[in-house]
Amino acid sequence: MKIEIIPCLKDNYSYIIIDEKNKKTCVIDPSESKPIIDFLEKKNLKLNYILNTHHHYDHIGGNVELKKKYNSKILGFEEDYKKIPQIDIKLKDGEIWKEDNFEAKIIHIPGHTLGHVCFYFYKDNNLFTGDTLFSLGCGRIFEGTYEQMFSSLEKIKKLPIKTKIYCGHEYTLQNSKFCIQYDNKNQSLIKKIKDINEKLKKNEPTIPSTLEDEFKNNIFLRSDNEEIKSNLNLKGSSSLTTFSKLRDLKDNF
Ligand code: ZN
Ligand code: FE
Repeated sequence: MKIEIIPCLKDNYSYIIIDEKNKKTCVIDPSESKPIIDFLEKKNLKLNYILNTHHHYDHIGGNVELKKKYNSKILGFEEDYKKIPQIDIKLKDGEIWKEDNFEAKIIHIPGHTLGHVCFYFYKDNNLFTGDTLFSLGCGRIFEGTYEQMFSSLEKIKKLPIKTKIYCGHEYTLQNSKFCIQYDNKNQSLIKKIKDINEKLKKNEPTIPSTLEDEFKNNIFLRSDNEEIKSNLNLKGSSSLTTFSKLRDLKDNF
């Protein structure tokens, strides 16, 4: 399977997964239809499936037009069927979605929205995290609670460390500025920031990241780190308290 990164809107990423042998495709979170159609036409492909991580407009904006053009099937979390128009396949937490040669585990990860899911294509170890886990960041908590977001990230942390992370936005550089402020002695993060700057200078995406990289560098996955707790004056606090404090600080960063 091949994954193409399609920049959309200002800083969104949609992803097209291509089964080249059978000429079948999926798109993850089409923010808008035009860049997706342009890409597919160039490659002489059609669109079979539209997978949505959550109902926000910048993740489903292209759905209806793409479905109309290609007769694609729209997939989304079962409880979001009223918020994501024209859903064909209602997904449940923990289920395996399998069609053609595509095979993904659906993991419900509420917090950013209540119906947020991620798609784990376990055969190739690719994870599409929408607006829950970003490279060096996590999503704003719009609909859920701190506890929900925290435990959603804990679910993701249980996946294999080599898992590649494909998230919904190019926020990595901005996120890195927040991470380094409270984790300034983290050598791995310092190196990662150099890598990020080099990629962006060449106009390349900083995505995909890996879970291993995020473990080392993403402050929102490091709320059990004593150094970070102490930098926040939260010595002795729980990881959830530290995480919540970080999320508040980031909202005003
Ligand atoms: Zn969102
Ligand atoms: Fe978004």
